[in-house]
Amino acid sequence: MSTFKHLQTLAVRTQAPRSSFMEHSTALHLTSSFLFENAEDMRSSFNEEKEKTIYSRYTNPTVDEFTSKMVLLEGAEAGYSFSSGMAAIYNTLAALLKSGDHVLCCHSVFGATLSLLNKYFVKFGVESSYFRVQQQGDLSGYLRPTTKILFIETPTNPGVEILDIAMMARFAKKHGLILIVDNCFATPVLQRPLQLGADLVVHSATKLIDGQGRVLGGVVVGKSALVEEIYQFARISGSCLSPFNAWVLSKSLETLYVRVEKHSENALEVARFLEEHSQVEMVRYPFLTSHPQYSMAREQMVLGGSIVAFSLNAGTHSAQGLIDALEMLSISANLGDTRSIITHPASSTHSKLTPSQRADAGIKENMLRLSVGLEHPEDIIEDLRKAMEKITK
Ligand SMILES: *Cc1c(COP(=O)(O)O)cnc(C)c1O
Repeated sequence: MSTFKHLQTLAVRTQAPRSSFMEHSTALHLTSSFLFENAEDMRSSFNEEKEKTIYSRYTNPTVDEFTSKMVLLEGAEAGYSFSSGMAAIYNTLAALLKSGDHVLCCHSVFGATLSLLNKYFVKFGVESSYFRVQQQGDLSGYLRPTTKILFIETPTNPGVEILDIAMMARFAKKHGLILIVDNCFATPVLQRPLQLGADLVVHSATKLIDGQGRVLGGVVVGKSALVEEIYQFARISGSCLSPFNAWVLSKSLETLYVRVEKHSENALEVARFLEEHSQVEMVRYPFLTSHPQYSMAREQMVLGGSIVAFSLNAGTHSAQGLIDALEMLSISANLGDTRSIITHPASSTHSKLTPSQRADAGIKENMLRLSVGLEHPEDIIEDLRKAMEKITK
């Protein structure tokens, strides 16, 4: 299968071995365990003398199909899938870190990733330091002899700021750190961090990979020695991806390229509209020339992605007022869905952070995060235009 030249084809055509029924679409192996021929077969399988599916907490053909597609799309050596994006991040960190280790992490990472590090990993003797996106050019002041992992996310959630993955990879290599990139916002369609020197890539498959707001899932892909360590921990910790969710996600990958390309096209149109609007104070979108890391984004990403951050003119109207005036856009916590979604991070997804933590993460109090969907861009723009008109009356 991996002889196809184009990733788009691999996303569509990679499939678990067909059953005797010769199903065309991919089969769903909804089973917790698998049979053995005899006692010796079971003994040798458990002793890892042969590769065999034993129990779905370890491996499952439908889950493996989804994982192998992600491995191919990211250009990785190996991978393992999880019940959610946070399960992928937690298991990756827990498997690789030990008491006394230090993590260097960007302030602008997913809120739950921050909580995991500064509320829970500290209990086990793992300390973390945080840097702002603007400091990415010089991180040496944060290094300790015990620094083991450099963790970043780009574009960042929800501020849509950009970190230079190749530069981060050179820094990590120079200092013997494992570089982990949360590639959730870009997906392998827009950027492939492993090709730029990252060691591991983590994903919340819940977002653009499902892309239709149905199931949760997560995956880690990258260097096989690291993935093996993560796998050995994961088969004990039990955060495995459900075969049903894997089946949904594997089918979703067949349309990932067309969806992400269209999302990006629509988002650029919406971002351009917002930039022109007199009530809008700030718009952040990687492929707008006004973006502070515009040239970095152009270098690193194929297109700008589906997320636009913006704020209204200070003093005129509250961010929440705009949300309430919208008719079509959904008020929800998900992103990367076919349906456009708006959130006010400071009062919802990032309300657990202190105002100074929000400032460090590039989240202004009046900033809105817009996940641009696959509706016609004119209808999305019309909804925003009318809502802004309504709140001025
Ligand atoms: C949503 C998200 C996660 C967590 O994923 P879940 O599937 O919700 O556990 C991690 N990183 C980023 C960037 C996200 O947007």
